[in-house]
Amino acid sequence: MLLIGSHVGFNKDTQLLGSLNEALSYKANTFMFYTGAPQNTRRSNISKEITEEALEIMKKNNLDYSKVIVHAPYIVNLATADPEKFIFAVNFIKSELKRCQELGIKYIVLHPGSHVGSGIETGITNIAKGLNMILGETDVMILLETMAGKGTEVGSKLEELAKIINLVQDKDHIGICLDTCHLNDAGYDIVNFDDFLTKFDSLIGINKIKCVHINDSKNELGSHKDRHENIGFGKIGFTTLINIIYNDKLKDVPKILETPYVDRQFAPYKYEIEMIRNKKFAENLLDKIRQQN
Ligand code: FE
Ligand code: FE
Ligand code: ZN
Repeated sequence: MLLIGSHVGFNKDTQLLGSLNEALSYKANTFMFYTGAPQNTRRSNISKEITEEALEIMKKNNLDYSKVIVHAPYIVNLATADPEKFIFAVNFIKSELKRCQELGIKYIVLHPGSHVGSGIETGITNIAKGLNMILGETDVMILLETMAGKGTEVGSKLEELAKIINLVQDKDHIGICLDTCHLNDAGYDIVNFDDFLTKFDSLIGINKIKCVHINDSKNELGSHKDRHENIGFGKIGFTTLINIIYNDKLKDVPKILETPYVDRQFAPYKYEIEMIRNKKFAENLLDKIRQQN
C-alpha cells in the first residue's frame, strides 16, 4: 500500500494530536514532523496523555505509526570544526532522540551538515564522530538525508554518505532518507530511477532507505540550489516523480512531501496527495488550491 504524507506542524499545546489531525485533513496515511520549530532548538516537554490520545486515533484510522518520521532541526551541524558548535549539536541531537523515544518514533531524519571550509574529509570525519557519540542510548534510527550540495553541504554524493556509514559503529541505527529535489540538484539523473537505485545499492544498500522526500525542483539537474517546487511544476516533472513514488523496490517506504505552500499561504498537500493517488497530472492544480482556500 502506498504510504504518502507530508511534513506537518507540531506545537507545544496540541503536539502529536495536532500533527496527526493535520495529516488526516490531507488524507495522508503517514507524516513527518519537527518536534518544535525547524529553524531553532527550543523544545517543550512531551505530554504522555496527548501522545496516547493520538495513538488511539491512529489505530482507528489504520495509520501505521511505526513509519512516522521526525525531522531534526536543520541548524545543528555535526560537520562543524568548531568544538563548541559540535558539542552543542551532539547534545541537542541526543535530546531529540530521547524525545523521539518518548513519542514512540523510530526514525529521525538528519541533514549531515556543512563543513564550512574545513574540507569534505574533515566534515565526514566529524559527522561520523558525532554519530558515534549520539547512537547507543535509544532505539531510534538516524536517517542521513541526501543533500543538494548547496554551499559546503556534506552528503550530496552517495560516496560521502557511504563513507560516513562505514565509520559508524552502530550500523543498525543508521539509515538514509532520499530527497528527490536534492538528488536532482546534486546532479543525479533520477529519470532512470532504477539505474540510480542500482548504483545506490552497490554503494550503500537499498535496505538502508527508510524514507523518501518527494519534491519537484525549481532548478536544473546539478544546480546545487535546493529550492523545492510543487509536484509536476518543476524540472523533475510529474512522470518521473510518479515512477519514483510507485517504484516496487521502495513500496514499503514512506513518501513525504515538502513542497512549498502556494502563494506562501495555502498548504498544497491534500491536493498533491490526491493527484499522486490518481497518477494524473492536474495542470490547474495551483489555481484550484487558490480558489478552494
Ligand atoms: Fe530535510
Ligand atoms: Fe528533504
Ligand atoms: Zn531541501
